[in-house]
Order: sequence, then C-alpha cells, then structure tokens
Amino acid sequence: MTEEAFDVLVVGSCMTDLVSQAPRLPKAGETIHGHKFFIGFGGKGANQCVQAARLGAKTAMVCKVGKDFFGDSYIQNFKDNGVHTDFVGQTSEAATGAASIIVNDAGENAIVIVAGANMLLNNEDLQKTLPSLIHAKVLVCQLEISPKTSLQALQMARESKVKTVFNPAPAIPDLDPEFYRVSDVFCCNESEAELLTGFSVASVEEAHRAAQELLRRGCGSVIITLGPQGCVVLEAQGSASKHIPTTAVTAVDTTGAGDSFIGALAFYMAYHPTIPLEEMARRANKVSGVSVQAVGTQTSFPFKKDLPPELF
Ligand code: ATP
Repeated sequence: MTEEAFDVLVVGSCMTDLVSQAPRLPKAGETIHGHKFFIGFGGKGANQCVQAARLGAKTAMVCKVGKDFFGDSYIQNFKDNGVHTDFVGQTSEAATGAASIIVNDAGENAIVIVAGANMLLNNEDLQKTLPSLIHAKVLVCQLEISPKTSLQALQMARESKVKTVFNPAPAIPDLDPEFYRVSDVFCCNESEAELLTGFSVASVEEAHRAAQELLRRGCGSVIITLGPQGCVVLEAQGSASKHIPTTAVTAVDTTGAGDSFIGALAFYMAYHPTIPLEEMARRANKVSGVSVQAVGTQTSFPFKKDLPPELF
C-alpha cells in the first residue's frame, strides 16, 4: 500500500471529451458530416490535479475509470503529467466517464455526459488511500463523483488536519450542509454561488454578499471566481471580503479556467501555506489567466516553465 506524502491529493472525476465540430447540430434521427474530431482529457477532478502537477506539486489522483481504451489512455495522460496513479482504479462494471460534444460553426454546443465509472468510486476505494490521504498537505474534491464519496474524503482529511479545498461543481441545490463545515476553502464560480445561496451574483458587490452567506454556513474561507473580473476572497467571520482583480487578457477559450484556478490554489496551499489566501488567489488568477489564452482544457493549462518566477 502506498504511504507516500503528497502535496495535493484530488478525489474526483475523469472524463474523456469526444468533440465533433460540424456546420450545425444534427436533428433527431439525422446523420450529418462534421469537419473536425478530437479527443480531449477532462473531468474537473483530473483537470485540477493536472494543473497542480504542472506547477510542480507532487500529486496523486483518486478516481475510477473503465477497463477500456479510454481508461488506459487516461492513466497514461496522468503519467505524462507526473500525476501518481496508484489510486486510479479500473472497473469492468462501467465505461470511463465520457462527454460527447458537438460544436457548430456558431460555437453553440450539444453535450451528453455519461459519468460511468466515476460514480462507482466509493468508500472502499477511499480506505485504500487512507495512509496517503492523512499525510497529504491538501485534499481537493468536487461534485462530479458521488457526493457521498466526496464528503467522506473531505471528512477523512479534516480528521487528520489535512487542508481541504471543496469546489461544489456542478452545483446541486440541496447540498448537504456538512460540506460547508468540512471545507477550509470553499471555492466556486458565480453561477454555483447563485444556485447555492439563492442570491444574484452578477457583480463584484453581489459576490461579496454571496461570499458572506457561504461563510456563514460554516466554511473556513470562501473564494468566488468571477471570470475576467478575477475573484473575491473572504477569510473570516466578521471581516470584509476582498476583490482580487486580474489582468485583462484576450481570452480565446475559457473552458477549464475554473479548474486551472483551483489546481493552482491547491499548489499554493501546499507549497506556500503561510502566504495570505488573497495572495494565493492573486497568483491563481494569473495562472488561470494564461489558460484562457489557449484552446482546449488541459491543453491550455500552463507549466511552471511557462510562468514568471515571481509566481513561485
Ligand atoms: P469554466 O466553467 O469556464 O471552467 P469557471 O466559470 O468555473 O470556468 P471563471 O470564474 O470563469 O471559472 O474563471 C476562473 C478564473 O479564470 C477567474 O477567476 C480568472 O482568474 C480566470 N479567468 C477566466 N476568464 C478570464 C478572462 N477572460 N480573462 C482573464 N482571466 C480569466
């Protein structure tokens, strides 16, 4: 059993993106010709883990893929990115999670996601990771696997004083309140903050208000990402949240920007645990700001060598 101490352990999802570009979206029962096809590596958990690894964190992924071609390819992708794969399980009971995506010439899309093997990650799998989980510096979870498994992982980390980052994505309206209490950092985007709080989050001012509400529910601190406006950070009950703006860039594809931000945040929490959360968020803004300037999800995530030394 692996007992290595990791900087960042991610318990979450892997999805293979099967992307077809076509002049238009087909109607029911229709077959049309597209002009381009490509396969991408995605899934929020895997994306966040890969970004943390590319910045130099010693990372491990805890997830489940199918015993199939896509599962084998995903494991190779983790290895290519320096992510430890001892906790990547393969099952013959379901296929590797997949997103079949059709994009038309107007940039609109139609997507079918089949979570598949992701939903089979369970407590038994978590128990196998326990010796490593309790020695990790940071644990990161999202909601693309069974929420029960995410919550168990966060609780296990909390009991061992491992710092936790919870990204409630995709957001569910009736989130178990325990998720707030086990999150050292609760990090979501505007639409997730809206769904969870019931407040409108269409401006920085509204994000401050939503952050106060999320903090009141019991998390250690809150970050709400705001796309080109950066993020707001709220650290302690009774204090004011701070807007951390970001540098304007020409965005070509923002897919996965939130995952790049969270992967970077986890890296900073593990590597520079004493710098203020606001400074970590400022640096994570910079990392994800690079990711939006290139096409694709993981393909757009920067490596340490692509970034200025002052971010390290
Ligand atoms: P996605 O769902 O597209 O993966 P998200 O909605 O979860 O992303 P965002 O809030 O859009 O997350 O973006 C996360 C971070 O990425 C922002 O806090 C910001 O630092 C950076 N970012 C996103 N869009 C831009 C942009 N247009 N210019 C500069 N930085 C950006």
